[in-house]
Amino acid sequence: MSDFLPTGIQLTYLVAASLFILGLKKLGSPATARNGNLVAAVGMLLAIIATMLDQQVLNYEMILVGLSIGSVIGAVVAYKVQMTEMPQMVGLLNGLGGASSALIAVAEFSRLLGSSQPIPLHVNISMLLDVLIGGVTLTGSFLAFAKLQGLVSGTPITFPLQQPFNLFLLGTYIAGSAYLIMSPDSLPIFLAVVAVSLVLGVMFVLPIGGGDMPVVISLLNSLSGVAAAAAGFVVMNNMLIIAGALVGASGLILTEIMCKAMNRSLFSVLFSAFGSVSTATGDAVAGASNQTVRSIDPEEGAMMLGYARSVVIVPGYGMAVAQAQHSVRELADQLERMGVDIKYAIHPVAGRMPGHMNVLLAEANVAYTQLYDMDDINPQFQQADVALVIGANDVVNPAARNDTNSPIYGMPILEVDRAKQTIVIKRGMSAGFAGVDNELFYKDNTTMLFGSAKDMVAKLVSEVKQL
Ligand code: NDP
Repeated sequence: MSDFLPTGIQLTYLVAASLFILGLKKLGSPATARNGNLVAAVGMLLAIIATMLDQQVLNYEMILVGLSIGSVIGAVVAYKVQMTEMPQMVGLLNGLGGASSALIAVAEFSRLLGSSQPIPLHVNISMLLDVLIGGVTLTGSFLAFAKLQGLVSGTPITFPLQQPFNLFLLGTYIAGSAYLIMSPDSLPIFLAVVAVSLVLGVMFVLPIGGGDMPVVISLLNSLSGVAAAAAGFVVMNNMLIIAGALVGASGLILTEIMCKAMNRSLFSVLFSAFGSVSTATGDAVAGASNQTVRSIDPEEGAMMLGYARSVVIVPGYGMAVAQAQHSVRELADQLERMGVDIKYAIHPVAGRMPGHMNVLLAEANVAYTQLYDMDDINPQFQQADVALVIGANDVVNPAARNDTNSPIYGMPILEVDRAKQTIVIKRGMSAGFAGVDNELFYKDNTTMLFGSAKDMVAKLVSEVKQL
C-alpha cells in the first residue's frame, strides 16, 4: 500500500498532464475550445485529488478552509465580472498565481531554516528563482491591473535614472542570491531578496503602456507559469512542474503572437521606454484636430449598407463595452437576407484581451467561417463597398501606417480606409486605448454614426428593415 500510493499519485499526474495537453490542443480552435476547457478542468481536478491523497499533506482542515474561501470568492468574482473587465481579472489572477508560487518558496525557506538538514543547491536556486519570478509576477500583474482599470495612468511612466535604478535592483537581487547560495541561513537577506523582487515587478511594468499592454499581460501570464514550475522544483512536485511549464510555454507563444500583431519585438516592448523621461499624456491629443468630420444619421447609414454588395464589419472595444454583439449579428443577418455579402474582420488586439472579439461574436452565434484575420481580410477591403467600424479605433488608425511620429507607428492595422466607404460607429471623438487621434475619421470616404454601439446598431437594423 505504501508503495502503491506514490505510484498511483504519479500515474494520476501523468493522466492529468495528458488531459492538460489535450485541453490546450482543443483550445486552439473556437469550435472545440469549450470542450478543451472542460478536459483541462477535469485534469486539474484529478491533479488536486491526487495531491490531497499525498502523505505529505498534513492539515486537511486548513486546506478545506482555504479551498472554501477561495472558491466562494472566485465564483462570485467570475459571476460578476463584466466581459470588458476580463483582462483586469486575468491580470489579478496572474498576480495571485505568482504570489502563491513565491509563498511556496518563502514557506519552504522558513521550514528548511528551522530544520537541521542542509538546503540542497538545486532547491536553493529554485527558491531564489521562484521568489524572483513569482514576486515580479505579483506586483507586475497588480500594476497592470491598475493601469487597465484606470487607477493609474495607462501610458508608459518613466523617470530620470530609471535604467540605472533598475540595474541597481537587479544587482542587489544577484548579490543577495549569491550570498544565500553560499550561506543559506540568513532570513533577513532572504526577505530582502523577496522585497527587491517585488519592486522589480513594479519597475518592469511601469514603463510599459498604451498599445503594448496586451503583450505585457500575456508575458505576465507566462511568468506565472514559470513561477509555478520553479515552485514545483522547490517542493519536487511533478504536477506543478508540468502545469507551470505548460502555462509558461503557452503564455510565451501568445506573447509572440501579440508581438507579431503589434509588429514589435519583445525587446522593444520591454525596454523601449526605459530611461526616457515621461511626456506621455496621449489622451490630450484626442479630438485635437481642427479637421471636420462628416456625420450621418441611421437612415443614411442603412441606405449605404442595404444597397452595398459587400460589407466588412470591424468590431472593436466599443462593441464589447456596449455589449452590441447580438444586435450586430441581427444587422448582419438582415443584410444577408437582402443579398449583401458579410465578413467580419478581426484584429488580434481589438478589445482588451486576446481573442476578445472572437469570444463575443461566438456568444452571438456568428459563424466562424465569417471571421477573417488581418492578413486574409486586408487585401479584400479595396473590393468592399462598406467597412462598418463598430467601436474600434486604434486597430483601424492609418497613422500606424503613415505617421512615423505616432506611438502606434508600425502596428499592423485593418485597412478600412481602403474600402469604398467607411462608416464608424462611436459615441464621440474620444481616442482609443493608445490615446491618439485617428485620421480615419476625417477622410473623405469616412462617415460617422455618433451614438452608443448597441443603440446605433439597433437603429440601423430597424432602418434596414424598412428599405
Ligand atoms: P480602442 O480602445 O482603440 O477604441 C475603442 C473606441 O470605442 C473608443 O475610441 C471609444 O470612442 C469607443 N467606444 C467606447 N464605448 C463605446 C460605446 N458604448 N459605443 C460605441 N463606441 C464606444 O479599441 P480597439 O479595439 O480599436 O483597439 C484596442 C486597443 O486596446 C489597442 O490599442 C490595443 O493595443 C489595446 N489593448 C488590447 C488588449 C488585447 O489583448 N486585445 C489588451 C490591452 C490593451 P468614444 O468614447 O468616442 O465612443
